[in-house]
Amino acid sequence: MSRVAYVNGRYVPHRDAQVHVEDRGYQFADAVYEVIGVVDGRFLDEEPHLDRLERSLKELRIAWPIARAALKLVLRETVRRNRVRNGLVYFQVSRGVARRDFGFPKRVRPSLVVTARATPPVSPDPGPGVAVITVPDIRWKRVDIKTTGLLGGALGKQKAREQGAYEAWQVDDAGMVTEGTSSNAWIVTADGELVTRPIGHEILAGITRQTVKKVAADLQLAVVERPFSVAEALAAREAFMTSATSFVTPIVKIDGKPVGAGKPGDVARRLRAEYLRAVSVAEPFA
Ligand code: PMP
Repeated sequence: MSRVAYVNGRYVPHRDAQVHVEDRGYQFADAVYEVIGVVDGRFLDEEPHLDRLERSLKELRIAWPIARAALKLVLRETVRRNRVRNGLVYFQVSRGVARRDFGFPKRVRPSLVVTARATPPVSPDPGPGVAVITVPDIRWKRVDIKTTGLLGGALGKQKAREQGAYEAWQVDDAGMVTEGTSSNAWIVTADGELVTRPIGHEILAGITRQTVKKVAADLQLAVVERPFSVAEALAAREAFMTSATSFVTPIVKIDGKPVGAGKPGDVARRLRAEYLRAVSVAEPFA
């Protein structure tokens, strides 16, 4: 079955989906995006993702390309046309097409692109866990805005892949972990406390992070929001990452050294299973 993309009001074959060469997303990364996971024909945390899009747009003073309610219909239609029951929907809004100039153009219509892609069905079982490496955080100072300016993260992820790891944890100048290239970072201390960096300009406020915080509270697990160092992570009982497409994924190795017992820990396992249970209550749309 051939894939379909939505581009500025039209559903087009994915291979023909295009925006103009002077789109500001292309020239300046003057664009924001979201990714929503699809599990068994349901969106995971749709409203919080739309809320975050609204915040990103506001921070950059980009207008909604279409109304929020209309966007929700387009997301559903794109998922439907691509027959995605498990996978993800990606949507991006750029400031639009204008003659190249650093300052904002006066009259411009934001560009909206939506794609959807199937992935294998998700299992509550986390499998063997993943390895991460650590890299200096070389990104700009407003990564709380979910822009398409992702080169810092892309370089980190590539380095991880070249070293046989799944993700790179980015580390600030003080030696504290900020976040993964496309995920939030967590540890479980010897005392059983869950630690993750507080929201600020240095990390993206992950939607999965937020939901997992609630799930942890329901399970009576203590969550402490504070920065942690690589050394502390290496001494932790468990480590894991959260994102819309990885859910809760245990981390078993950091820079080649085992975390805890070197296999997925109980806390990460429980959180993954409970997270998937918690998000499966949304109404199926397909
Ligand atoms: N941090 C970064 C830098 C990301 O790109 C992502 C993935 N969008 C996340 C964290 C996790 O966010 P979410 O749980 O909303 O997918």
